Amino acid sequence: MAATKTYDTAIIGAGVFGAWSAWHLARRGQRVVLLDAYGPSNARASSGGETRIIRMGYGTDEIYTRSSQRSLAQWKSFCAATGQKLFFETGVLWLAGEDDSRVRETMVTLKRCEVPFEEMDHAALERRYPQISFERVSRGFLEPKSGVLLARRAVAAVVEDAVKQGVDFRIALIEQPRGAGRLTSVTCSNGETISAGQFVFSCGSWLGKVFPEILGQRIFPSRQEVFFFGVPPGDARFSPPALPTWLFQEDEYYGMPDIEGRGLKIALDHHGERIDPDTQSRLPTAAEAEVVQKYVGKRFPALRNAPVVETRVCQYENTSNGDFLIDRHPEKENVWFVGGGSGHGFKHGPAVGEYVSRQILDKAAPEPRYSLATKETVQHRAVY
Ligand SMILES: Cc1cc2nc3c(=O)[nH]c(=O)nc-3n(C[C@H](O)[C@H](O)[C@H](O)COP(=O)(O)OP(=O)(O)OC[C@H]3O[C@@H](n4cnc5c(N)ncnc54)[C@H](O)[C@@H]3O)c2cc1C
Repeated sequence: MAATKTYDTAIIGAGVFGAWSAWHLARRGQRVVLLDAYGPSNARASSGGETRIIRMGYGTDEIYTRSSQRSLAQWKSFCAATGQKLFFETGVLWLAGEDDSRVRETMVTLKRCEVPFEEMDHAALERRYPQISFERVSRGFLEPKSGVLLARRAVAAVVEDAVKQGVDFRIALIEQPRGAGRLTSVTCSNGETISAGQFVFSCGSWLGKVFPEILGQRIFPSRQEVFFFGVPPGDARFSPPALPTWLFQEDEYYGMPDIEGRGLKIALDHHGERIDPDTQSRLPTAAEAEVVQKYVGKRFPALRNAPVVETRVCQYENTSNGDFLIDRHPEKENVWFVGGGSGHGFKHGPAVGEYVSRQILDKAAPEPRYSLATKETVQHRAVY
Protein backbone atom coordinates (compact mmCIF):
# COMPACT_ATOMS: atom_id res chain seq x y z
CA MET A 1 0.00 0.00 0.00
CA ALA A 2 1.33 3.47 -0.89
CA ALA A 3 2.39 5.51 2.14
CA THR A 4 0.23 8.58 2.85
CA LYS A 5 2.14 11.76 2.04
CA THR A 6 2.80 14.06 4.98
CA TYR A 7 3.27 17.73 4.26
CA ASP A 8 5.17 20.44 6.07
CA THR A 9 2.27 22.81 5.48
CA ALA A 10 -1.32 22.40 4.34
CA ILE A 11 -2.89 25.59 3.03
CA ILE A 12 -6.67 25.76 2.94
CA GLY A 13 -7.90 28.38 0.47
CA ALA A 14 -6.33 29.22 -2.90
CA GLY A 15 -7.21 32.88 -3.14
CA VAL A 16 -4.44 35.44 -3.46
CA PHE A 17 -3.26 34.98 0.16
CA GLY A 18 -3.15 31.17 0.04
CA ALA A 19 -1.58 31.09 -3.43
CA TRP A 20 1.29 33.41 -2.48
CA SER A 21 1.77 31.65 0.88
CA ALA A 22 2.15 28.34 -0.97
CA TRP A 23 4.51 29.94 -3.49
CA HIS A 24 6.81 31.42 -0.83
CA LEU A 25 6.85 28.28 1.33
CA ALA A 26 7.64 26.10 -1.72
CA ARG A 27 10.44 28.49 -2.67
CA ARG A 28 11.96 27.78 0.71
CA GLY A 29 11.90 24.02 0.18
CA GLN A 30 8.71 23.19 2.07
CA ARG A 31 6.43 20.31 1.08
CA VAL A 32 3.12 22.08 0.62
CA VAL A 33 -0.42 21.03 -0.25
CA LEU A 34 -2.86 23.74 -1.36
CA LEU A 35 -6.57 22.92 -1.08
CA ASP A 36 -9.62 24.78 -2.28
CA ALA A 37 -13.30 23.89 -2.24
CA TYR A 38 -14.00 25.46 -5.64
CA GLY A 39 -10.60 26.12 -7.24
CA PRO A 40 -8.07 28.98 -7.37
CA SER A 41 -9.70 32.45 -7.63
CA ASN A 42 -13.10 30.91 -8.29
CA ALA A 43 -16.21 32.98 -9.01
CA ARG A 44 -17.27 33.01 -5.33
CA ALA A 45 -13.83 34.02 -3.97
CA SER A 46 -12.86 37.63 -3.24
CA SER A 47 -9.84 37.07 -5.50
CA GLY A 48 -12.12 35.93 -8.35
CA GLY A 49 -12.68 39.33 -9.99
CA GLU A 50 -11.23 40.41 -13.32
CA THR A 51 -9.13 43.27 -11.95
CA ARG A 52 -7.87 44.76 -8.69
CA ILE A 53 -6.18 48.10 -8.00
CA ILE A 54 -2.61 48.22 -6.76
CA ARG A 55 -1.87 51.62 -5.22
CA MET A 56 0.76 52.76 -2.78
CA GLY A 57 -1.26 55.42 -0.95
CA TYR A 58 -2.92 54.50 2.36
CA GLY A 59 -3.31 57.77 4.28
CA THR A 60 -1.05 57.61 7.33
CA ASP A 61 -0.95 53.79 7.29
CA GLU A 62 2.66 53.49 6.19
CA ILE A 63 2.64 49.77 7.00
CA TYR A 64 0.37 49.19 3.98
CA THR A 65 2.28 51.61 1.73
CA ARG A 66 5.49 49.64 2.43
CA SER A 67 3.65 46.36 1.90
CA SER A 68 2.28 47.60 -1.47
CA GLN A 69 5.77 48.67 -2.56
CA ARG A 70 7.15 45.28 -1.64
CA SER A 71 4.29 43.52 -3.37
CA LEU A 72 4.44 45.53 -6.61
CA ALA A 73 8.12 44.64 -6.95
CA GLN A 74 7.23 40.95 -6.55
CA TRP A 75 4.24 41.10 -8.91
CA LYS A 76 6.52 42.65 -11.53
CA SER A 77 9.30 40.13 -11.10
CA PHE A 78 6.72 37.32 -11.20
CA CYS A 79 5.41 38.70 -14.53
CA ALA A 80 8.97 38.97 -15.88
CA ALA A 81 9.87 35.42 -14.79
CA THR A 82 6.70 33.81 -16.17
CA GLY A 83 6.35 36.00 -19.27
CA GLN A 84 2.76 36.96 -18.39
CA LYS A 85 1.19 40.41 -18.52
CA LEU A 86 -0.74 40.58 -15.27
CA PHE A 87 -0.05 44.22 -14.35
CA PHE A 88 -1.19 47.35 -16.21
CA GLU A 89 0.61 50.54 -15.20
CA THR A 90 -2.48 52.74 -15.62
CA GLY A 91 -1.52 55.17 -12.88
CA VAL A 92 -3.83 55.72 -9.90
CA LEU A 93 -5.49 59.12 -9.52
CA TRP A 94 -6.57 60.17 -6.02
CA LEU A 95 -9.29 62.83 -5.83
CA ALA A 96 -10.19 65.06 -2.88
CA GLY A 97 -13.35 67.03 -2.23
CA GLU A 98 -13.80 69.89 0.19
CA ASP A 99 -11.96 68.00 2.94
CA ASP A 100 -8.60 67.11 1.42
CA SER A 101 -6.97 65.88 4.64
CA ARG A 102 -6.72 62.22 3.56
CA VAL A 103 -5.10 63.14 0.26
CA ARG A 104 -2.65 65.46 2.05
CA GLU A 105 -1.77 62.79 4.65
CA THR A 106 -1.30 60.24 1.89
CA MET A 107 1.14 62.49 0.02
CA VAL A 108 3.22 62.96 3.20
CA THR A 109 3.52 59.18 3.60
CA LEU A 110 4.33 58.69 -0.08
CA LYS A 111 7.10 61.28 0.14
CA ARG A 112 8.59 59.53 3.18
CA CYS A 113 8.47 56.18 1.34
CA GLU A 114 9.91 57.70 -1.84
CA VAL A 115 6.88 56.81 -3.93
CA PRO A 116 6.64 59.13 -6.96
CA PHE A 117 3.45 61.15 -7.38
CA GLU A 118 2.24 64.17 -9.28
CA GLU A 119 0.04 66.77 -7.59
CA MET A 120 -2.71 68.55 -9.55
CA ASP A 121 -5.13 71.32 -8.65
CA HIS A 122 -8.67 71.48 -10.03
CA ALA A 123 -7.63 73.34 -13.18
CA ALA A 124 -4.74 70.96 -13.90
CA LEU A 125 -7.06 67.96 -13.48
CA GLU A 126 -9.53 69.43 -15.97
CA ARG A 127 -6.80 70.08 -18.50
CA ARG A 128 -5.29 66.64 -18.21
CA TYR A 129 -8.50 64.58 -18.09
CA PRO A 130 -11.20 66.36 -20.12
CA GLN A 131 -13.29 63.16 -20.21
CA ILE A 132 -13.91 63.43 -16.42
CA SER A 133 -16.18 65.96 -14.70
CA PHE A 134 -14.35 67.24 -11.60
CA GLU A 135 -17.44 68.71 -9.97
CA ARG A 136 -16.85 68.93 -6.16
CA VAL A 137 -13.20 67.88 -6.64
CA SER A 138 -10.73 70.36 -5.13
CA ARG A 139 -7.44 68.69 -6.00
CA GLY A 140 -5.77 65.35 -6.60
CA PHE A 141 -2.57 63.49 -7.24
CA LEU A 142 -1.47 60.71 -9.55
CA GLU A 143 0.64 57.69 -8.62
CA PRO A 144 2.06 57.14 -12.13
CA LYS A 145 3.73 53.79 -11.37
CA SER A 146 0.67 52.12 -9.81
CA GLY A 147 -2.17 50.44 -11.66
CA VAL A 148 -4.23 47.31 -12.06
CA LEU A 149 -3.62 43.58 -11.59
CA LEU A 150 -5.54 40.98 -13.60
CA ALA A 151 -6.78 39.37 -10.42
CA ARG A 152 -8.21 35.93 -11.12
CA ARG A 153 -5.70 35.28 -13.85
CA ALA A 154 -2.82 36.32 -11.58
CA VAL A 155 -3.90 33.91 -8.83
CA ALA A 156 -4.22 31.07 -11.35
CA ALA A 157 -0.69 31.88 -12.58
CA VAL A 158 0.78 31.93 -9.06
CA VAL A 159 -0.85 28.55 -8.28
CA GLU A 160 0.44 27.13 -11.57
CA ASP A 161 3.95 28.32 -10.78
CA ALA A 162 3.72 26.98 -7.21
CA VAL A 163 2.71 23.58 -8.63
CA LYS A 164 5.78 23.69 -10.90
CA GLN A 165 7.82 24.18 -7.73
CA GLY A 166 6.33 21.02 -6.22
CA VAL A 167 3.17 22.21 -4.46
CA ASP A 168 0.31 19.69 -4.61
CA PHE A 169 -2.97 21.38 -5.50
CA ARG A 170 -6.28 19.66 -4.81
CA ILE A 171 -9.96 20.51 -4.94
CA ALA A 172 -11.29 19.67 -1.47
CA LEU A 173 -13.68 21.13 1.09
CA ILE A 174 -11.97 21.08 4.47
CA GLU A 175 -14.11 20.65 7.54
CA GLN A 176 -13.84 22.65 10.74
CA PRO A 177 -10.91 21.27 12.78
CA ARG A 178 -12.11 19.89 16.11
CA GLY A 179 -10.48 18.78 19.35
CA ALA A 180 -7.97 20.48 21.58
CA GLY A 181 -4.21 20.93 21.19
CA ARG A 182 -1.94 20.62 18.18
CA LEU A 183 -3.62 19.72 14.89
CA THR A 184 -2.20 16.70 13.10
CA SER A 185 -4.60 16.46 10.14
CA VAL A 186 -7.61 18.02 8.49
CA THR A 187 -10.58 16.12 7.12
CA CYS A 188 -12.03 16.62 3.64
CA SER A 189 -15.79 16.47 3.07
CA ASN A 190 -15.30 13.02 1.43
CA GLY A 191 -13.78 11.69 4.66
CA GLU A 192 -10.16 11.70 3.49
CA THR A 193 -7.59 13.14 5.90
CA ILE A 194 -4.55 15.26 5.08
CA SER A 195 -1.63 15.35 7.53
CA ALA A 196 0.80 18.22 7.92
CA GLY A 197 3.01 19.97 10.45
CA GLN A 198 1.43 23.42 9.98
CA PHE A 199 -2.01 24.46 8.76
CA VAL A 200 -2.73 27.80 7.12
CA PHE A 201 -6.40 28.71 6.82
CA SER A 202 -6.53 31.40 4.13
CA CYS A 203 -10.27 31.06 3.65
CA GLY A 204 -11.20 34.69 2.96
CA SER A 205 -14.79 35.42 3.91
CA TRP A 206 -15.30 31.74 4.84
CA LEU A 207 -13.01 32.09 7.88
CA GLY A 208 -16.02 32.78 10.08
CA LYS A 209 -17.74 29.64 8.78
CA VAL A 210 -14.70 27.43 9.37
CA PHE A 211 -14.02 28.84 12.86
CA PRO A 212 -17.46 30.07 13.99
CA GLU A 213 -16.62 30.36 17.70
CA ILE A 214 -13.50 32.51 17.21
CA LEU A 215 -14.08 34.30 13.91
CA GLY A 216 -17.83 34.15 13.32
CA GLN A 217 -18.21 37.63 14.83
CA ARG A 218 -14.78 38.94 13.75
CA ILE A 219 -14.96 38.54 9.96
CA PHE A 220 -17.72 40.57 8.34
CA PRO A 221 -18.39 39.40 4.74
CA SER A 222 -20.12 42.27 2.91
CA ARG A 223 -21.87 42.16 -0.47
CA GLN A 224 -20.16 44.31 -3.13
CA GLU A 225 -21.48 45.01 -6.62
CA VAL A 226 -19.22 45.91 -9.54
CA PHE A 227 -20.33 47.33 -12.91
CA PHE A 228 -18.62 47.60 -16.27
CA PHE A 229 -19.96 50.25 -18.65
CA GLY A 230 -19.51 49.91 -22.41
CA VAL A 231 -17.43 52.71 -23.89
CA PRO A 232 -18.41 54.37 -27.19
CA PRO A 233 -17.05 52.51 -30.24
CA GLY A 234 -13.72 53.74 -31.56
CA ASP A 235 -13.25 56.00 -28.53
CA ALA A 236 -9.91 55.62 -26.67
CA ARG A 237 -10.63 58.28 -24.02
CA PHE A 238 -11.67 55.64 -21.49
CA SER A 239 -8.74 53.27 -22.00
CA PRO A 240 -5.20 53.53 -20.63
CA PRO A 241 -3.14 55.67 -21.01
CA ALA A 242 -5.84 58.35 -21.52
CA LEU A 243 -7.79 57.40 -18.41
CA PRO A 244 -6.08 56.27 -15.20
CA THR A 245 -7.52 54.18 -12.39
CA TRP A 246 -9.11 56.61 -9.93
CA LEU A 247 -10.58 56.83 -6.47
CA PHE A 248 -12.68 59.46 -4.77
CA GLN A 249 -12.98 58.27 -1.20
CA GLU A 250 -15.32 61.11 -0.19
CA ASP A 251 -17.91 59.76 -2.66
CA GLU A 252 -16.96 56.13 -1.79
CA TYR A 253 -16.50 55.40 -5.52
CA TYR A 254 -13.53 53.99 -7.41
CA GLY A 255 -13.03 52.86 -10.96
CA MET A 256 -10.64 51.89 -13.64
CA PRO A 257 -10.25 52.36 -17.37
CA ASP A 258 -11.38 49.92 -20.03
CA ILE A 259 -8.90 47.06 -19.72
CA GLU A 260 -9.00 44.16 -22.18
CA GLY A 261 -12.25 45.55 -23.59
CA ARG A 262 -14.30 44.79 -20.46
CA GLY A 263 -15.58 48.39 -20.24
CA LEU A 264 -15.14 51.18 -17.71
CA LYS A 265 -15.22 49.54 -14.30
CA ILE A 266 -16.86 51.30 -11.38
CA ALA A 267 -17.99 50.31 -7.90
CA LEU A 268 -19.18 51.74 -4.63
CA ASP A 269 -16.67 51.03 -1.87
CA HIS A 270 -19.40 51.31 0.78
CA HIS A 271 -19.89 48.04 2.72
CA GLY A 272 -23.00 46.20 1.58
CA GLU A 273 -25.14 43.82 3.64
CA ARG A 274 -23.69 40.80 5.43
CA ILE A 275 -23.83 37.71 3.19
CA ASP A 276 -22.91 34.04 3.01
CA PRO A 277 -20.22 33.63 0.29
CA ASP A 278 -21.50 30.16 -0.72
CA THR A 279 -25.08 31.16 -1.39
CA GLN A 280 -25.38 34.93 -1.98
CA SER A 281 -26.94 35.95 -5.29
CA ARG A 282 -24.39 37.04 -7.87
CA LEU A 283 -26.95 39.18 -9.70
CA PRO A 284 -26.69 42.93 -9.05
CA THR A 285 -29.73 44.78 -7.75
CA ALA A 286 -31.62 47.15 -10.04
CA ALA A 287 -31.45 49.81 -7.30
CA GLU A 288 -27.65 49.84 -7.13
CA ALA A 289 -27.32 49.64 -10.93
CA GLU A 290 -29.44 52.79 -11.19
CA VAL A 291 -27.42 54.70 -8.56
CA VAL A 292 -24.10 53.76 -10.18
CA GLN A 293 -25.35 54.55 -13.70
CA LYS A 294 -26.34 58.06 -12.54
CA TYR A 295 -22.91 58.56 -10.99
CA VAL A 296 -21.16 57.44 -14.18
CA GLY A 297 -23.24 59.93 -16.17
CA LYS A 298 -22.23 62.72 -13.81
CA ARG A 299 -18.51 61.94 -13.67
CA PHE A 300 -18.12 60.84 -17.28
CA PRO A 301 -20.62 62.91 -19.30
CA ALA A 302 -19.85 61.04 -22.55
CA LEU A 303 -21.00 57.81 -20.83
CA ARG A 304 -24.37 59.18 -19.68
CA ASN A 305 -26.31 56.54 -21.63
CA ALA A 306 -23.62 53.87 -21.72
CA PRO A 307 -24.91 50.31 -21.35
CA VAL A 308 -23.82 47.97 -18.56
CA VAL A 309 -21.80 45.31 -20.42
CA GLU A 310 -20.74 43.15 -17.50
CA THR A 311 -21.34 42.87 -13.74
CA ARG A 312 -19.83 41.06 -10.77
CA VAL A 313 -21.12 40.52 -7.29
CA CYS A 314 -18.46 39.59 -4.80
CA GLN A 315 -17.76 40.11 -1.11
CA TYR A 316 -15.23 41.91 1.04
CA GLU A 317 -13.88 39.89 3.97
CA ASN A 318 -13.71 42.69 6.52
CA THR A 319 -12.12 42.72 9.93
CA SER A 320 -13.39 45.22 12.48
CA ASN A 321 -11.10 48.04 11.30
CA GLY A 322 -9.66 46.78 7.98
CA ASP A 323 -6.31 45.53 9.30
CA PHE A 324 -5.36 42.05 8.10
CA LEU A 325 -5.71 39.02 10.35
CA ILE A 326 -2.54 36.91 10.27
CA ASP A 327 -2.08 35.08 13.53
CA ARG A 328 -2.09 31.69 15.20
CA HIS A 329 -5.21 29.99 16.44
CA PRO A 330 -5.36 30.83 20.19
CA GLU A 331 -5.47 27.14 21.21
CA LYS A 332 -3.66 25.40 18.34
CA GLU A 333 -0.18 26.75 17.86
CA ASN A 334 0.31 25.13 14.45
CA VAL A 335 -2.90 26.56 12.97
CA TRP A 336 -2.76 29.97 11.29
CA PHE A 337 -5.51 32.37 10.27
CA VAL A 338 -4.56 34.36 7.16
CA GLY A 339 -7.19 36.75 5.90
CA GLY A 340 -9.13 39.89 6.63
CA GLY A 341 -8.12 41.52 3.33
CA SER A 342 -11.07 43.88 3.96
CA GLY A 343 -11.58 45.02 0.39
CA HIS A 344 -7.97 46.13 -0.07
CA GLY A 345 -5.96 42.93 0.34
CA PHE A 346 -5.40 41.70 -3.20
CA LYS A 347 -2.41 43.87 -4.06
CA HIS A 348 -0.63 42.65 -0.89
CA GLY A 349 -0.70 38.95 -1.83
CA PRO A 350 3.08 38.66 -2.36
CA ALA A 351 3.98 40.47 0.88
CA VAL A 352 1.38 38.47 2.84
CA GLY A 353 2.75 35.18 1.48
CA GLU A 354 6.26 36.24 2.40
CA TYR A 355 5.12 37.31 5.87
CA VAL A 356 3.40 33.94 6.43
CA SER A 357 6.51 32.03 5.35
CA ARG A 358 8.65 34.08 7.76
CA GLN A 359 6.25 33.56 10.63
CA ILE A 360 6.27 29.79 10.09
CA LEU A 361 9.92 29.23 9.16
CA ASP A 362 11.85 32.04 10.84
CA LYS A 363 9.63 32.71 13.85
CA ALA A 364 9.78 36.36 12.74
CA ALA A 365 8.41 39.01 15.11
CA PRO A 366 4.67 39.30 14.50
CA GLU A 367 3.08 42.58 13.41
CA PRO A 368 0.72 43.64 16.24
CA ARG A 369 -1.79 45.15 13.80
CA TYR A 370 -2.30 41.72 12.20
CA SER A 371 -3.00 40.00 15.53
CA LEU A 372 -6.24 38.28 16.51
CA ALA A 373 -6.20 40.28 19.77
CA THR A 374 -6.80 43.52 17.85
CA LYS A 375 -9.84 42.15 16.01
CA GLU A 376 -13.11 43.27 17.54
CA THR A 377 -16.69 42.13 17.13
CA VAL A 378 -18.03 45.56 16.13
CA GLN A 379 -16.90 47.31 12.94
CA HIS A 380 -15.11 50.69 12.95
CA ARG A 381 -13.60 50.89 9.48
CA ALA A 382 -10.28 52.74 9.63
CA VAL A 383 -8.06 51.25 6.90
CA TYR A 384 -8.99 51.95 3.28
C1 LIG B 1 -15.44 43.79 -5.46
C2 LIG B 1 -14.09 43.76 -4.82
C3 LIG B 1 -13.14 44.70 -5.16
C4 LIG B 1 -11.89 44.69 -4.58
N1 LIG B 1 -10.95 45.59 -5.00
C5 LIG B 1 -9.68 45.49 -4.55
C6 LIG B 1 -8.68 46.31 -5.13
O1 LIG B 1 -8.95 47.11 -6.04
N2 LIG B 1 -7.41 46.17 -4.67
C7 LIG B 1 -7.09 45.29 -3.69
O2 LIG B 1 -5.91 45.23 -3.32
N3 LIG B 1 -8.03 44.49 -3.13
C8 LIG B 1 -9.30 44.56 -3.54
N4 LIG B 1 -10.28 43.73 -3.04
C9 LIG B 1 -9.94 42.84 -1.92
C10 LIG B 1 -9.25 41.58 -2.36
O3 LIG B 1 -9.81 41.09 -3.56
C11 LIG B 1 -9.34 40.55 -1.22
O4 LIG B 1 -8.85 41.14 -0.02
C12 LIG B 1 -8.51 39.31 -1.53
O5 LIG B 1 -8.80 38.81 -2.81
C13 LIG B 1 -8.78 38.24 -0.47
O6 LIG B 1 -8.08 37.07 -0.82
P1 LIG B 1 -8.13 35.79 0.11
O7 LIG B 1 -7.13 34.85 -0.44
O8 LIG B 1 -8.01 36.17 1.56
O9 LIG B 1 -9.64 35.23 -0.02
P2 LIG B 1 -10.41 34.55 -1.24
O10 LIG B 1 -9.96 35.06 -2.53
O11 LIG B 1 -11.87 34.68 -0.94
O12 LIG B 1 -10.00 33.03 -1.16
C14 LIG B 1 -10.45 32.18 -0.15
C15 LIG B 1 -10.54 30.77 -0.72
O13 LIG B 1 -10.77 29.85 0.33
C16 LIG B 1 -11.54 28.80 -0.20
N5 LIG B 1 -12.16 28.12 0.97
C17 LIG B 1 -12.91 28.70 1.92
N6 LIG B 1 -13.27 27.79 2.85
C18 LIG B 1 -12.74 26.61 2.46
C19 LIG B 1 -12.76 25.31 3.01
N7 LIG B 1 -13.41 25.03 4.15
N8 LIG B 1 -12.10 24.33 2.35
C20 LIG B 1 -11.43 24.59 1.19
N9 LIG B 1 -11.40 25.82 0.63
C21 LIG B 1 -12.03 26.81 1.26
C22 LIG B 1 -12.54 29.50 -1.11
O14 LIG B 1 -13.07 28.63 -2.09
C23 LIG B 1 -11.67 30.60 -1.71
O15 LIG B 1 -11.14 30.23 -2.98
C24 LIG B 1 -11.57 43.72 -3.59
C25 LIG B 1 -12.52 42.77 -3.23
C26 LIG B 1 -13.77 42.78 -3.85
C27 LIG B 1 -14.77 41.73 -3.46
